[in-house]
Formats: sequence, structure tokens, C-alpha cells
Amino acid sequence: MRKKLSIIFAALFLVFASLGQTLSVLAQESSKPDTTSGASEKKYTDPAELKESYDVVVVGSGGGGMAAAIAAHDAGANVVIFEKMPIVGGNTSKSSAGMNASETKFQKEAGIEDSNDKFYEETFKGGKEKNDPELLRFLVDHSASAIDWLDSMNIKLDNLTTTGGMSVKRTHRPSDGSAVGGYLVEGLYANVTERKIPTFVNSDVTEITEENGAVSGVKVTVEGQEKTIKSKAVVLATGGFGANLDMVSQLKPELKGFVTTNQEGSQGDGIKMAEKLGAQTVDLDQIQIHPSVEQKTSYLITEAVRGEGAILINQEGKRFFNELETRDKVSAAIIGQEGKSAYVVFDEALKGRVKAINQYESKGLVVKGDTIEDLAKEIGVDPANLKASLETWNKSVADKKDEEFGRTTGMDNDLSQAPYYAIKIAPGIHHTMGGLKINTNAQVLNKENQPIKGLYASGEVTGGVHGANRIGGNAVADIIIFGRQAGEQSAAFVKE
Ligand SMILES: Cc1cc2nc3c(=O)[nH]c(=O)nc-3n(C[C@H](O)[C@H](O)[C@H](O)COP(=O)(O)OP(=O)(O)OC[C@H]3O[C@@H](n4cnc5c(N)ncnc54)[C@H](O)[C@@H]3O)c2cc1C
Repeated sequence: MRKKLSIIFAALFLVFASLGQTLSVLAQESSKPDTTSGASEKKYTDPAELKESYDVVVVGSGGGGMAAAIAAHDAGANVVIFEKMPIVGGNTSKSSAGMNASETKFQKEAGIEDSNDKFYEETFKGGKEKNDPELLRFLVDHSASAIDWLDSMNIKLDNLTTTGGMSVKRTHRPSDGSAVGGYLVEGLYANVTERKIPTFVNSDVTEITEENGAVSGVKVTVEGQEKTIKSKAVVLATGGFGANLDMVSQLKPELKGFVTTNQEGSQGDGIKMAEKLGAQTVDLDQIQIHPSVEQKTSYLITEAVRGEGAILINQEGKRFFNELETRDKVSAAIIGQEGKSAYVVFDEALKGRVKAINQYESKGLVVKGDTIEDLAKEIGVDPANLKASLETWNKSVADKKDEEFGRTTGMDNDLSQAPYYAIKIAPGIHHTMGGLKINTNAQVLNKENQPIKGLYASGEVTGGVHGANRIGGNAVADIIIFGRQAGEQSAAFVKE
């Protein structure tokens, strides 16, 4: 009996000892700063592992930064990523509609005829012919291989849709039609960690250092401590300045008071740091407003909803414009309506085709009506007008001809399956087309159009690709194509 009791006590002691150890480990974990991202928990590099020097420093962890880091690593460089926010992803996480690319294997599989020239021409026209022709040519010619590159990294964008200003389905999104951003960031970060590329969050790069006319590294505040890091090359992938409302309204006073769709890290840091090194900027006053932003939450209602067939309805219950015109024109048309706002209207079948709508619904942004009349009552528009608008639209879809407003895309399916839905929207600040001037090697140019030695940039921090108006789906193409190029070129430079 005594022996039995002492065995039980010993066993209990072991259980409590190991429980105590587990609790103390958990306590240590939870006392660390929060560097995990909501939905899927990401692990970031411990600040204690920071080294004094790397071949290439990548500033910013959106798509432009992670694509650059992966490409530089695969080209043999020793790379580090610094991200000032507590999580990776930047605005890339928020991107929704997809990534534009032409002559891709997925378009061919779907029987879609497209060409790089057509992609070029439509982007140039949409950008009011202000786009940098060389950068745009590089973008369209490398778009199909960028889709293949992502596919080779297990990031498959094989579901096709359309965005405003594009005549064919060239917007590539995940197989299930979900938003591109979360999927892309997950996939890129999985590749970053697989390659063991150190990624430091809460790490704000404040200065690019220079020695003898060449970049020599950066100053970065990691978890509150300033460090000077040496590197032969720096890739700026800090995104745009759409969340810097002072900068936006200084450059474009008429945008004062507009909401923004951007995450708070988009402050224009990269532009300011590079300007101190004599960098040239282009098109800074070209700031895009997006037509469909829910105003209370600043939540973007993706263009894919219209691309899949939704229409815009004004306060009278009537259509008023071609919903898939370029963003500048659709925004202007909405601002011209009563209340400077409109409703995106769609049916149950469309809801099944655009997974992002589930998110909008969970945020309480979607109004539902079992019939068209019910929906009209819910949103306070004339039921007879809304019914007539939908009937006319459904006839246009059947005839493949929009007599009223000349829409030609997003007309594969009509809006006839109840229940019906509406989301109230108005334009919001969305994309900064201007930024640092780069060449096709992603090198940042000075005011004499000469590369600043060792300085590269990719993504929304740069200007020129999109001209005066960005086409939906072209920014994700831009960050992947020029991110990859910045990575490969900076890696080649450090080996020279
Ligand atoms: C709501 C929304 C939806 C969109 N949908 C689409 C779409 O469907 N298709 C499309 O083509 N485009 C879309 N866009 C645009 C597109 O997402 C962006 O243009 C693109 O993702 C920018 O990528 P990036 O890598 O250049 O910058 P970001 O993804 O913004 O990443 C930049 C990162 O740099 C960090 N950073 C900034 N300064 C510093 C610093 N000093 N030190 C360290 N880190 C710093 C930022 O915190 C950020 O994480 C959308 C944009 C928004 C806001």
C-alpha cells in the first residue's frame, strides 16, 4: 500500500512539474510582442538574430518586397526583409480582384485569345497614354512568365475574370475565385520562410546610407532600437502613400476629406528616403480614387463584383454609366449622382462566383431582398425603377448589347436569381500611380536619368507603369514582375 501511494505521488509530481514548465514557456511566448497575423499565425525572425551586414536589404514586405527577396535569394544573394508594421503583407494583403497577365497558359487552357500587344494598348489607353512605354512593355512581356513563376512556387492563379478597361479575361485569381491578396501573401511568405530569408517586423527603415556615391546600407529601428546595417544593395518596396492623407491632399487638394482603402504603412517613406539620395520622381500627383468603397468602413468592394456582372444603381433606382469603364470615369460618374454615391447590385448566382462577398456580408455591408421590390425598399429606391433597370439589363446580357451605356464586358451572366443584394458605395483614395523613377532593371534613377548605384525599387513606391490611371489587376502584375526583376538585378549587382 505504502509503495503504491509513493508511486502515485511520484507520478503526480511529474505531471505538475511538466505542466509548470509548459505554463512558463507559454508565459514567455505571450510576453513577446504580437508579431503574428490574425487568420494564419506567422512566425517572424527574432531581433536577436539580426546581423550587421547582408548582400541585399529589402525594405517592405508586400508583394513587391517578398518577390524581390525570393528572386535575390534564388540568384545566390544573402537577403534580409525589414517591415515596419507588426505583420507582413502591406496593401498586397488587401488586394482583391486579381493579377493581370496576357498570353498565359491559363488563358490558353480556357480558350481565351489575348496578346501582349493588346494588353499594352489597353493599359496605355487606360493610363491616358502617360505610362512609361519601356516599363509598360517590360510588364506585359513578362506577365505570362510571372504567372508561371508564381505557379512554380505553388501560387496558382488560374481562375480568370475581367476588370474595368480590359477587353478580355486577363485578371488571374485563385482557383476558387477568392480575393488574390491574402492568398498571394500566404504563398509568398511560405516561400520566404522555406528559404529561411530573415524577416524582421516592427522594423522601421529610416535612412538609406551612402558611401563614395553608392548605397552602403540602411538605418533601421528594430523593436525600438536603432541599428546601422551594411549592404551593397537596397531594394525599396515600401508601397505607395495612399494612407498619408496630408501628402495626398497637398498633391491633389480636391481629394481632401476622401476616405482611403490603404493600410496605415503606406506613408511614402521610400520616396522620401530615396529623394534624399537625389532620386527622381514621376507623376506624384496622379492619385487614383476607386469607384466602389464602402464609406463607413473604407472597405473596398472589388471590381471583380462588377467584372462578374453586377450593375451600379443610383438613388432613383436607375443605371447611369458603363460600370466597367476605367476607374477615373466610373468614379466621376458616381460623384455626379445624387448623394455622390451609388449601389452595387447583384444576385444570388453572382454571390456564389465572388467569394469576397462573404467577407462583405460578415462585415454587415450587404443589404438583402428576397425580391427586387424588397431590395428596393431596403435601400430606399423606387421599386418600379429598380425592376425596370434589372429587366433592361438582363435583356442587354441576353442580346450581348448594352444599348444604354455601351458596356461590353462582365456580361456572361444576367442578374435573375433571387435573392438580390446591394452594397452602398462611393469613391475613395486607392492607389498612388506616381513614385520613384526606375528603368527596366528596376534601378532607381537620379535627376540626370542615371542609376543610383545599388538602389533598386519595385511596386507602388515606383511611378510610370500605370500613367494617369491604373487598371484593376495591373498593380499586382507590377509588384510581382518588377519585384522579381529588382531581386535578380540587385543580386547580380552585388556579385560584380
Ligand atoms: C483594398 C485594396 C485592393 C486592391 N486590389 C488590387 C487588385 O485586385 N489588383 C491589383 O493589381 N491591385 C490591387 N490593389 C493595389 C495593390 O494591392 C498595391 O498596389 C500593391 O499590393 C502594392 O504592393 P507593394 O509591395 O508595392 O506595397 P505594399 O503591399 O503596400 O507593401 C509595402 C510594405 O512596406 C512597408 N513599409 C513602408 N515603409 C516602410 C519602412 N520605412 N520600413 C519598413 N517597412 C516599410 C509597409 O508597411 C508595407 O507592408 C489594391 C489595393 C488596395 C488597398
